[in-house]
Amino acid sequence: MSPHGGDSNSTWEGILIMGHERNLKLTKRFNELFAGGHSNFRIAIEASEHRVFLTRAEGSHLWDVDGNEYIDYLNAMGPTILGHRHPEYTNALKDHLGVMSTAIGSGVFFTPQDVELAEKLVKHIPCAEKVKLCLSGSEAVQMAIRLGRAYTKRPYFIRFGDHYHGWLDNVIGGVVDEHPAGKPFGVENKELDMLCHTEGKSRGALQESFLLPWNDIERLEEVLKTYGEEVAIIHFEGIVFNHFALMPRPGFLERMRELCTKYGIVMSMDEVISGFRVGLGGAQGYLGITPDLSTFGKAMAGGIPFSAVVGKADILDQLKERKVLGPGTFNGHPLGVRAALTTLSVLERGGGAAYKEMAKVQKRLTDGLSDLAKKHGITMSIQGVTGGFFTLFGVEKTGHAYTNDDLKDLDIWKLFDFWKKMQEEGIIVMAGGRWYMSIAHTDKDIDRTLEAADRSMARM
Ligand code: PMP
Repeated sequence: MSPHGGDSNSTWEGILIMGHERNLKLTKRFNELFAGGHSNFRIAIEASEHRVFLTRAEGSHLWDVDGNEYIDYLNAMGPTILGHRHPEYTNALKDHLGVMSTAIGSGVFFTPQDVELAEKLVKHIPCAEKVKLCLSGSEAVQMAIRLGRAYTKRPYFIRFGDHYHGWLDNVIGGVVDEHPAGKPFGVENKELDMLCHTEGKSRGALQESFLLPWNDIERLEEVLKTYGEEVAIIHFEGIVFNHFALMPRPGFLERMRELCTKYGIVMSMDEVISGFRVGLGGAQGYLGITPDLSTFGKAMAGGIPFSAVVGKADILDQLKERKVLGPGTFNGHPLGVRAALTTLSVLERGGGAAYKEMAKVQKRLTDGLSDLAKKHGITMSIQGVTGGFFTLFGVEKTGHAYTNDDLKDLDIWKLFDFWKKMQEEGIIVMAGGRWYMSIAHTDKDIDRTLEAADRSMARM
């Protein structure tokens, strides 16, 4: 059983909604035309028989073709930090489309807003001296790996079990080999790797990186003692939002920082989720650790596909010197630039006032959920930081969870049961009990969410 939940044969038939005539009709045709949902993981956690087709979105609310209304804690799997159709955001995009083209030739033409955006990124992100723009998180990660390899002239990178860095061959799937004979490559294990195992990967994909257990400093030291001179880059999620928001154990990242400096390895924090979600400085600002490189995506542009690699000038300047190529027709897409610029303008206003307000609203929600669990005699704890958290059913804890050992009591079935029951109430949370906040969530949303949680927990 993976803590991600479900077994490999389980399917979830989708969001069970009150009125669903039009949704069902569209689902039928969708399933004839498409090979599954637009994003898919190995466990069928996406809707298949009851897909929901949206017609309107505003703030923290969504509406579908049958007129059902939802409160949205999925937030597009992370990007919509301003909520949906934030007036300033929507107006900026309309304004852009009123005078400027959608694509202008990424290596030839630029907009003044490119410079404004980069000024903001280097101001807010601790490690950012220079910026490279891409389109998706997956692309930014590949760019970081290429930059790290070129900079060090070394072949391997290190990643950690249960972290996620996109769908490309060299970063997806594999599990930690507990007793490697030689280099600590990840190994394919279809049973254990329920979420990310995929067929069709290139043969050498797992031999590009060493896959190590998260928060195990002895293991990292040991591997670097033997292979330190062969490792180009360590790429990791500072806060592991892709796995129950596991936090770095105190001292772990500080030691990793020292080791990277000692061995000349590029330390690269993946902030595709945490960037501009947990605060203006991302996870690196929150944790007080400055990596050499960092990848951003999702929330940075509030919902338009857009990503960036930022970091030390001498690493990024390899692009300028044409040592490293980073082409892409849509890189630095002007609509994405405008979207990111507007998102950051809203978030930085009043010294990050929107984050403070979001934290307050989130605390009302998490306190309320904890109280309700107590009321219903259900063991449940909250793990996360401002911007995102998990409801961990079965787990009693006082501090942070750091490793899967801290999650050994996780009750996957309760977690999924609650998730489904909340969906029946029109409250949309991400699979695995992951809640993403936006600055659009209101106290009224929290009241409605807690009423739904009360009814859901009563039925568990
Ligand atoms: N890194 C992290 C930490 C992510 O969570 C994701 C996506 N969930 C990616 C990279 C890949 O981003 P994208 O899906 O935009 O390619």
